[in-house]
Amino acid sequence: MIFEIDKIDEEGQSFEVLESKQHFHIDSPDCVLTEDVKIQGRLEKAGQEILCQGLLETSLRVTCTRCLVGFSFPVRSKLNVHFTPQTDNDKPGNEVELTELDFEQEVYEEDRINLSSPVRDLILLSLPQIRLCKKDCAGLCSQCGINLNEKHCDCNKEEPCDPRLAVLQELKDKLK
Ligand SMILES: [Zn+2]
Ligand SMILES: [Zn+2]
Repeated sequence: MIFEIDKIDEEGQSFEVLESKQHFHIDSPDCVLTEDVKIQGRLEKAGQEILCQGLLETSLRVTCTRCLVGFSFPVRSKLNVHFTPQTDNDKPGNEVELTELDFEQEVYEEDRINLSSPVRDLILLSLPQIRLCKKDCAGLCSQCGINLNEKHCDCNKEEPCDPRLAVLQELKDKLK
């Protein structure tokens, strides 16, 4: 996901890329990238600085925090990256301060920018701490370990699932 800065039009340039899922090495037991990563975006030049904004789409397979079953988690996130050239620390920086806080800051070298690392970060950051296969996932029985979405057990259960988590998930669904 490398772009040569010389080849970016002065007035900005739209792009669309599809990068293979293997490229990102997201392959842990509870989180695997299952689809190639599509990005539609735009590059803008401001002197030596490059702004990249776009929409990232892909899909992960993650493990439910409650019942430990794997499920598909679609990712659709906004990519906002601000690239600045690498400078010696001695040199006075003359970079324009960006006020937008939601831009990820990256440094580039040798007249080319690489989106791989910010894209990987964005994919991983899109995952919530609590990942539920469905918002009312019943989880595992704390006593016998059975998956309560699939079966019932005769254990004595007194605490229902935490309603606060369900509220958070609802809020998240609305923001999508
Ligand atoms: Zn679950
Ligand atoms: Zn049980």
